[in-house]
Amino acid sequence: MRLRNIKGAREMMVESDHTVNEPQANKGRWRKFFGNGNPIHLEIGTGKGNFIMTMAQSHPEISFIGIEKYSSVLLRALEKQQELMLPNVIFIRTEAENIEDIFEEGEIDRIYLNFSDPWPKDRHAKRRLTSKQFLARYDIILKKDGEVEFKTDNRALFDFSVEEAREAGWQLRQITYDLHNSEMNEGNVMTEYEIRFSEQGTPINKFIAFR
Ligand code: SAM
Repeated sequence: MRLRNIKGAREMMVESDHTVNEPQANKGRWRKFFGNGNPIHLEIGTGKGNFIMTMAQSHPEISFIGIEKYSSVLLRALEKQQELMLPNVIFIRTEAENIEDIFEEGEIDRIYLNFSDPWPKDRHAKRRLTSKQFLARYDIILKKDGEVEFKTDNRALFDFSVEEAREAGWQLRQITYDLHNSEMNEGNVMTEYEIRFSEQGTPINKFIAFR
C-alpha cells in the first residue's frame, strides 16, 4: 500500500489534537501557543516523525514543530504522539513553501532538514529544501544566531546544498561526509531514512549552517 493514498488521512489530520489546521493564525504567537518562552525548533519534511518525537522526548526545554506535506505520512508521526502525548511537539500538514505565512521574522531558533527530497532534475532545483529560494525563507523566520542542520545520504544534493549555502552568504559551522564515523555523531538522532540508508552502507552527509 502506498502511504500517500491512505483513505481518510486528511480528515484524521484535521481532527487530530496534535496538528494545527490554521497555523497562520499563530504567526508571531507560537511561544504563547506552547505556553512558555522556550526555543522553537522546526523540522521540515518530518515524514513519519521518529526524529522529532525522539528529540522532543529528550529535550522538554525545547518546543518542536514538524512540517510535512503528506497527510498519510504524517499519520505515522501522529500515532507516535498519540502514544507519548508530549506537550512540546505539534505538527502542521503543509508545504514548506508556506513557512513565511506561518512564522514571524526571527521566530524560529533552529531548522532541521533530514533526507530532503533530491529533485534531481536541474529545472526542479528551486524545489530542493536547501535551494537559495528556501534559504531566503529560512533567513527570514530564523532568529539572528539560528542554525540550519541538514542531513542526507545523497552526495549530489549535499554538494549542491553546500554551494547554495555559501553563495547565499551562509557559513558552515560543521560539515562531515560520514556522519556516523565523525565527532558530529555525538547525540545524533536517526531518522527513518537514515536507518535505512546506513544499513545499506551509504555514508551520511551533514552540515550545520548559520549566517
Ligand atoms: N525526514 C524523514 C526521514 O529522514 O526519514 C523523511 C524523509 S523523505 C525523503 C522527505 C519528506 O519530506 C517526505 O515525507 C516528503 O513528503 C516531505 N517533503 C518534501 N518536500 C516537502 C515540502 N516542500 N514541504 C513539506 N514536506 C515536504
